[in-house]
Amino acid sequence: MVQRLTIKPGVPLSEQPNVIGMNRWHPSIPPVASIKPGEEIILETLDFLDGQIANDDNPEDVRKVDLTRAHPLTGPIYVEGAEVGDLLVVDILDIGYITPFGFSGIFSKENGGGFLTDYFPDAAKAIWDFHGIYTTSRHIPGVRFPGLTHPGLIGTMPSIEMVHEWNRREAPLAAEGKAKPPYPPTAFLGGLKGDSFDQAAKEACRTVPPREHGGNTDIKNISIGSRIFFPVFVKGALFAMGDLHFSQGDGEISFCGAIEMDGYSHLHFDVIKGGMKKYNLKQPIFVPGPNDPHFEKWLIFEGISVEDGVNYYLDATVAYRRACMNAIEYLQNFGYTGEQAYMLLTAAPVEGRIGGIVDIPNCACTVAIPTGIFDQNILPT
Ligand code: ZN
Repeated sequence: MVQRLTIKPGVPLSEQPNVIGMNRWHPSIPPVASIKPGEEIILETLDFLDGQIANDDNPEDVRKVDLTRAHPLTGPIYVEGAEVGDLLVVDILDIGYITPFGFSGIFSKENGGGFLTDYFPDAAKAIWDFHGIYTTSRHIPGVRFPGLTHPGLIGTMPSIEMVHEWNRREAPLAAEGKAKPPYPPTAFLGGLKGDSFDQAAKEACRTVPPREHGGNTDIKNISIGSRIFFPVFVKGALFAMGDLHFSQGDGEISFCGAIEMDGYSHLHFDVIKGGMKKYNLKQPIFVPGPNDPHFEKWLIFEGISVEDGVNYYLDATVAYRRACMNAIEYLQNFGYTGEQAYMLLTAAPVEGRIGGIVDIPNCACTVAIPTGIFDQNILPT
């Protein structure tokens, strides 16, 4: 029998019947399970907003969401024999949904924002129904596509020195509202209690940014069948994951993002002794899985690093934003509102690429949409 950690969908992490997780990074959080190299485990995980979003047509819950409760992760998992300097090898054997629907949305500019928040300042929501590997949405009619299902967030535990370093380097940004500092009131640190909780909650890192341990990388290609090699920074590796996505476009541009869901991940663990030094690795590497969906034809939108009459120097962020806006404006010719097109780009398996990042002063980026996901021809005729 494979060990399985279970959740109760719709119930916040802090009120789950069993202690199965955490929503901050700190090495003093006690493990919720342990495993030997060569063994498998199934981890169930809550959606990234901790059950705050309802399957209905009203975006009020997205507008008012408490973002400090993100992300409820399942873990940490103690891997026997894993020591600092090793590589933790994680095979994603399977991922699936627990409840047959998910959500994507747009956070309001006042609460969360997103990549295009200046163009789409108000909250919106799209519910997606799952039909096996396919999904459709009553809020974005005329599209259907298979999911490239993956964890938005997956990683090993930072050491206490790393926690301190992350807080140090993010503090100046946090002071300007551009990063999320530690926030004890909604911290949930597994089984940690009393003084140890108070001490850790003050410095435990938020789960929002990706960091050297992986974390919230939102890489859609870390999907079923992938093998990931994580650096081990603490004894036992203390692995954790969550934020499962049924599907996501490159960039997860709306931030409320992918098609977010409650789900399970079936994992296999192994350890490569001394692997960090042997392979000179400081951050994770991965091999994508074998069963990505295949799309025959794509329509690709270009963007350059010029916005509102300003020429930005080799800025891939601006160029990608322009590519996305060009796609959204184009899709409005086919019956979609701007909000619908934005929520489609964040959720569908669109590919973002960097063209040239050397041709001064402009960078070129592209966003590619598989044309087969639409029930109509979206090419110019
Ligand atoms: Zn997510």
